[in-house]
Amino acid sequence: MADKTNTSDVRGDRVVTNSVGNPYNDPFATQRIGQHGPLLLQDSNLLDSLAHFNRERIPERNPHAHGAGAFGYFEVTDDITDVCGSAMFSEIGKKTRCVTRFSTVGGEKGSADTARDPRGFATKFYTEEGNLDWVYNNTPIFFLRDPSKFPHFIHTQKRDPQTNLKDPNVFWDYLTTPENQVAIHQLMQLFSDRGTPASYRCMNGYSGHAYKWSNKKGEWRYVQVHIKTDQGIKNLTNEEAVKMAGENPDFCTQDLFENIAKGNFPSWTVYIQTMTEEEAQKLPFSVFDLTKVWPQKEFPLRRVGKLVLNENPLNFFAAIEQAAFSPSNTVPYQEASADPVLQSRLFAYPDAHRYRLGANFHQIPVNCPYASKAFNPVIRDGPMNVNGNFGNEPNYYASNKQYQIPGQNRPIQQHQEVWNGPAQPFHWATDAGDIDFVQARNLYKVLGKQPGQQQNLAHNIATHVASACPDIQKRVLDMFGRVDEGLAANIKKEIDQNGTDATAKF
Ligand code: NDP
Repeated sequence: MADKTNTSDVRGDRVVTNSVGNPYNDPFATQRIGQHGPLLLQDSNLLDSLAHFNRERIPERNPHAHGAGAFGYFEVTDDITDVCGSAMFSEIGKKTRCVTRFSTVGGEKGSADTARDPRGFATKFYTEEGNLDWVYNNTPIFFLRDPSKFPHFIHTQKRDPQTNLKDPNVFWDYLTTPENQVAIHQLMQLFSDRGTPASYRCMNGYSGHAYKWSNKKGEWRYVQVHIKTDQGIKNLTNEEAVKMAGENPDFCTQDLFENIAKGNFPSWTVYIQTMTEEEAQKLPFSVFDLTKVWPQKEFPLRRVGKLVLNENPLNFFAAIEQAAFSPSNTVPYQEASADPVLQSRLFAYPDAHRYRLGANFHQIPVNCPYASKAFNPVIRDGPMNVNGNFGNEPNYYASNKQYQIPGQNRPIQQHQEVWNGPAQPFHWATDAGDIDFVQARNLYKVLGKQPGQQQNLAHNIATHVASACPDIQKRVLDMFGRVDEGLAANIKKEIDQNGTDATAKF
């Protein structure tokens, strides 16, 4: 598909015209009185050009504004039809075309792509059952498990309303507040060297949430997806990342484009973890808690396939800036679980696209379900309708017309996830308990097996928190002390050695 961006209404003879196809005699001649007199309002070509220029920018994503992407394919290497009945997994060797966009989270569209930040890793698969989006990150967990916190939290990563500066006091004030310390596991990831990937090609993607996948018999399981880089994980140190942000803030964008352009196609091996409902009930934490991973010894990875990116977009704006990913775009046999953050994303992502791109964002070629096509003449009209709008089809399901409505023709496992209870307000993110620190401690042990990684973690935190005020620094030390006393001591040592450094980068 991809680059359907090169559309058929582009003139093949390359005669230059205004936007409605009237040829220019001279694109730089302006209509005026004499040679140096004032311009004339009748110069429609000039007005066309200036007015369109003023409208070139669309709202940037909030968050995930800065990103890069490419087209490619997913290929099935292993049979998982016992877990998932989706057509894309139906046979070994089957390939499904896709587009992937990588991004940072907090920074603006022009910000540095080596910033310390999680990375978005979103892939849209053009399947014969419609579009499927895996809207993932490069970390297997997130900062929160209660979606009402999301705008509140993201604001703390952005700019102060008065100074328009990022503020380490605000950043750490939020994160050290007891009920927000559920972020500790994600903070350990963020401040490890994985918080500054050397390249989009050299990082993993994780579903983070539990999803619900089922097979054609109707048996379902919770599933987590892991997309592991075949290039090997490569990270920058804090200092390398800061230096690169100054020298080449688009380094990762350039790295992705140039490698694909020279045929060095990045690939990832895709795995799943599965969990039954009974196993979920025995977990020491909720399966819907986005701050937890599933231990791999109990829930081993099972290989599924390969993701390969082998085609740069012909036009960045058309294919990547306008790409609209949403976890609500899904296919039969792959469903959202009751994870409340995932549930809220089912609303928030398409809502963001309707705001950024308009109600007909799904008609933009990169978002079209071109492998299945769409037919629903009740969903029509709206701004920028460009696909013929179902012609003279009735705008309701007319009794004298034929419609194919397959109905629910697949078995559903009975007695699954039976929800029962009063509608009530429930604030999940109560104070972080010890359980919220267990996996952060496990990660600290994982880092301990890799030379220099525990020291780098302490250094990366100290560098960031050095410019915060002393009481915030104390809260940070107390929080990381709950992970490991030695970690807190090392952070403190670095802060004391280096003093408060207002130029510390984050
Ligand atoms: P395991 O020892 O079985 O797994 C450890 C996993 O940690 C590895 O498989 C690897 O996953 C990941 N890892 C390795 N180095 C790093 C690093 N420098 N930074 C971040 N992750 C790294 O133990 P558990 O499954 O019990 O997990 C222990 C901790 O590892 C967790 O608390 C979590 O923080 C982290 N982790 C766990 C994952 C999981 O799914 N269980 C996934 C990723 C991290 P990978 O190849 O995906 O990097």
